[in-house]
Amino acid sequence: MDYLILVNRFEPLPEGYGEKLKLRTVQGKLFETQTAIMLETMLDDALDDGIRIRVISGYRSDDYQQMLREREISSNMGLGMDYLSAVRKTDKTLAPVGCSEHGTGLAADLCTCESDDVEPEFHRTAAGKWLCKRSSEYGFILRYPRFKEHITGIDYEPWHYRYVGRGAAKLISESGICLEEFLHFYSDKYTQC
Ligand SMILES: [Zn+2]
Repeated sequence: MDYLILVNRFEPLPEGYGEKLKLRTVQGKLFETQTAIMLETMLDDALDDGIRIRVISGYRSDDYQQMLREREISSNMGLGMDYLSAVRKTDKTLAPVGCSEHGTGLAADLCTCESDDVEPEFHRTAAGKWLCKRSSEYGFILRYPRFKEHITGIDYEPWHYRYVGRGAAKLISESGICLEEFLHFYSDKYTQC
């Protein structure tokens, strides 16, 4: 399993990737097995600190991603946008089919227990702050940080965490770089840790 796999609009998931994935659930959502184990441990430890974190999204099949995009595009068009503008706006938060990190089984959207959807101000909540500080201990990174939008191509998402393994997560969070920069500079030294 390649925990450092890069998936974005330029690098879609390899053909047949989803068929080989071994999945396991956390709070009713599916994740790659090792990711699920580490996510569960992280959420249990947060709970020990009095922080409840809800999992709202995990693995998404291509069909499900397609459905989410169609729904978002038509909702944007309902706000008066033409088709192309609606697609462009959707692209900022929902990747094209085959290009979403949620297709890897390594990504989790998390929120507070008071919510059942992503929260743009999640980083200001106790849960968001706990994750920012501690998630790398469990091998997770904040995948789409602020001020890296020009590199990741995705708007700041304080709720989207990605499993990369502990060694890589520690280096990424301590140096303030994003996954694309890490892979460019360090990936041959930090393979599977
Ligand atoms: Zn996400």
